[in-house]
Amino acid sequence: MSRLDSFIRRLTAQRDILNSIVDMVQPIEGPVLEFGLGNGRTYDHLREHFPDRRIIAFDRDVRSYSSSTPPAENMVTGEIRESGQAFVGIGAALAHADIGTGHDEIDAVTLTWLPQLMVGVLATGGIAVSGLPIERPELEPLPLPPGIKEGRYYLYRRR
Ligand code: SAM
Repeated sequence: MSRLDSFIRRLTAQRDILNSIVDMVQPIEGPVLEFGLGNGRTYDHLREHFPDRRIIAFDRDVRSYSSSTPPAENMVTGEIRESGQAFVGIGAALAHADIGTGHDEIDAVTLTWLPQLMVGVLATGGIAVSGLPIERPELEPLPLPPGIKEGRYYLYRRR
């Protein structure tokens, strides 16, 4: 499969999973956390689906389209490993992490801290969506929407 095909499938999985969890997230109180704002595409998608929800976005710095940039009070800059710690216990209804790089050695370092952070920020019953596998006993893997191959994107519920 070409890198273009692989990229398209990953984004399709990302969108289909985010669409599939909307009804699961609605009854759960708490903000939505977006780890890895990037240019703001998934932030914009989340905003469309959760218009009344506080959505807090994180990135090293702000490089999103101006129309997809959160208000200053909901934008947290810096290394997520550190900046995320202040949000442990916030009781998020949904945490989405799109901070994989495709480089195994970099992603392995991210996986030394991301799973604990995801568990820490989520409310009980909260949903975790991630581009990297976040194996933790507190996170129950959920079935992916039809057509999404295992391992392309990851979906969990906080026990
Ligand atoms: N989902 C986004 C979108 O749809 O536009 C794209 C996210 S992009 C793939 C990943 C982003 O995460 C990059 O902007 C990068 O700067 C940020 N990022 C990755 N690791 C990070 C870390 N450890 N701390 C802060 N930001 C990080």
